[in-house]
Amino acid sequence: MPELPEVEVTRRALAPHVEGRRVTGVVVRDARMRWPVPRELPQWLVGQRIDHLDRRGKYLLWQVEAGTLISHLGMSGSWRVHLAPPPAPGRHDHVEIHLDRCWLRLTDPRRFGALLWHPRADGDIAQHPLLAHLGVEPFDPRFDAALVYAATRGRTAPIKQVLLAGDIVVGVGNIYASESLFRAGINPKLPARRLGPMRCARLVEAVREVLAEAISVGGSTLRDFVGAEGAEGYFMREAAVYGREGAPCRACRTPIRRLLQGQRATYYCPRCQR
Ligand SMILES: [Zn+2]
Repeated sequence: MPELPEVEVTRRALAPHVEGRRVTGVVVRDARMRWPVPRELPQWLVGQRIDHLDRRGKYLLWQVEAGTLISHLGMSGSWRVHLAPPPAPGRHDHVEIHLDRCWLRLTDPRRFGALLWHPRADGDIAQHPLLAHLGVEPFDPRFDAALVYAATRGRTAPIKQVLLAGDIVVGVGNIYASESLFRAGINPKLPARRLGPMRCARLVEAVREVLAEAISVGGSTLRDFVGAEGAEGYFMREAAVYGREGAPCRACRTPIRRLLQGQRATYYCPRCQR
């Protein structure tokens, strides 16, 4: 499932192909995604210049003159850039956007992705219902120890689940939560409210490092194609704890443990993480 690093890798790969380019055509082959792709999309987008390709959480925000195209990769979505006319579409190629000199295809076998339109007249995109409740971005300077400390007071849920909820900081998906907590030396079962200021600071640093590394290994595998699974695959090879149940901790050789928290697997070292 594409997480924030994969979406950021997608954004970085697409941006040079789309920013400053004008939309010359839009084909919606199949509108059935998580929410129906609006039928009016071609009339709204054709002729528009894409000023910026931004990201908020796991949403790609295509900023055009008249508004914002919001895209989400769901469970299995990916964008592919074709620099020459693409081959005949496959059954999972639902949407195509033509620009001056390239073709973008959205493929999504499981259809949990989304493509939505937010006209400029509807106001600030940051206040869109899908975005307004999101936590801060992990690389935003506002994500700091003081914020984590304040936001975890009174929260009795385990820190792993609080991280996954995404209302403090976005982008810490299941794999990255285990990896960040290992790096910060924090037990995933620890009630969030018991984190002191020092551990909040270590957690902030660990989250940033883990996500930055995932983005950089994903980015290094790119050419003109952006895969949903690629970055995770490369990152997983270097995972410290995730998927390593029973294997020796890379720091202390204690066998890595696995547990379920809210139906999601958590991996941790019982000796390094307190
Ligand atoms: Zn250990």
